[in-house]
Amino acid sequence: MNRAKSEAAFASAARVIPGGVNSPVRAFGAVGGTPCLIERGEGSRLFDLDGNSYIDYVCSWGPLIVGHAHGDVVDAVARAAAKGTSFGAATEAETRLAEAIVDRVRSIEKVRLVSSGTEATMTAVRLARAFTKRPLIVKFDGCYHGHADHFQVRAGSGLATASIPSGAGIPESVAGDTASIPYNDFDAVQKLFRERGSSVACVIVEPVAANMGVVVPRDGFLGELRRLCDSSGALLIFDEVITGFRLARGGAQELFGVVPDLTCLGKIVGGGLPLGAVGGRAAVMDRLAPLGDVYQAGTLSGNPLAVAAGRKTLDLLDGDETYSRLETLGGKLEEGLVEAIAAKGAPASVSRIGSLLTVFLTAGPVTDFESAAKGSTEKFAALFHGMLDGGVYLPPSAFEAWFLSLAHDDDDVRATTETFCAVLDQVF
Ligand code: PMP
Repeated sequence: MNRAKSEAAFASAARVIPGGVNSPVRAFGAVGGTPCLIERGEGSRLFDLDGNSYIDYVCSWGPLIVGHAHGDVVDAVARAAAKGTSFGAATEAETRLAEAIVDRVRSIEKVRLVSSGTEATMTAVRLARAFTKRPLIVKFDGCYHGHADHFQVRAGSGLATASIPSGAGIPESVAGDTASIPYNDFDAVQKLFRERGSSVACVIVEPVAANMGVVVPRDGFLGELRRLCDSSGALLIFDEVITGFRLARGGAQELFGVVPDLTCLGKIVGGGLPLGAVGGRAAVMDRLAPLGDVYQAGTLSGNPLAVAAGRKTLDLLDGDETYSRLETLGGKLEEGLVEAIAAKGAPASVSRIGSLLTVFLTAGPVTDFESAAKGSTEKFAALFHGMLDGGVYLPPSAFEAWFLSLAHDDDDVRATTETFCAVLDQVF
């Protein structure tokens, strides 16, 4: 595949943008090579500057559940833009989107719109700390909650030992108030609550982990978090930035029947424009300014274009059998990939829930970050480039979810599994 224009454009980008990208994973650092610069998207496809086309399994990392440039979403955004792009004042459209969220997500009585998933998680944690008057955040290794300081932490070897910041620029004083423990580990979380339960402000969790590849919660894991939070007076925060409106109309909490105190939303809720949301019980949410003493604000919060895109996307998801179509498509893709892996006898496994999927290049079961990290990153790089050259755009990292959309179809899935089959032969 010729990528001469992408290569030249990336070189120009690297002169004025650190690493040539505005979010690190886009630089292809984990897989090598030069990233394709994207010219446009249409349905399930991406087109790069050189005119190459790819079946896209990134879908902007989740927001594009109805596909690229869906006509109804584009129209909604254009209509909103024609009336003004931002007012810094309240609009009725924000209320309509808030109502749509409250209607869908069982635990949300009130919701505040922000501009990104990171802002949603930052606000949720601040609310939890104010509400409980406690400092400690509990998170899980391999879960991602945006780039705020207090989430960039992995626990040290012992649960009660000081936490160590991962990445520079994060003071130990901040990291010390975050404990990070293995996902799906009942013993670790029980031990943490035994030892430090009275200082836990919140447990924040991706109800299905999708930032170490897709890792589903063990039976009862989310319920156990709910129980421990209740017995210690901590708040349970579900980070549904990826799972919200994707795994079910009401998100992962509907699917697993566990009700968090606060929910963080992003991606789909903004329909491909910058929008996030934090919502939950009114008693907690009403602590936000201007009613309460927890400060949160944003010049572009509730931006009319983002609100229009989000609202239209949620409406489209209410169409005919959307979630069962995503499930069927996901099932077919999984089946094709599993068959190819079995035929080759490759040490790999497929982890899927609905329209989220990861191929782990390790034979063992993946239940947490440690087992996910056993996957071969060299083999993944080869797989990634083989697929890319075959016209399939996968996330450029072994530990990410592949995202399906309603714009993908059986032909996409067939072409993807055929390419995968051929590429596996080269990789293993
Ligand atoms: N939480 C989760 C679960 C995410 O996957 C992400 C982003 N991938 C975030 C939070 C942060 O969202 P944003 O990139 O919009 O700040």
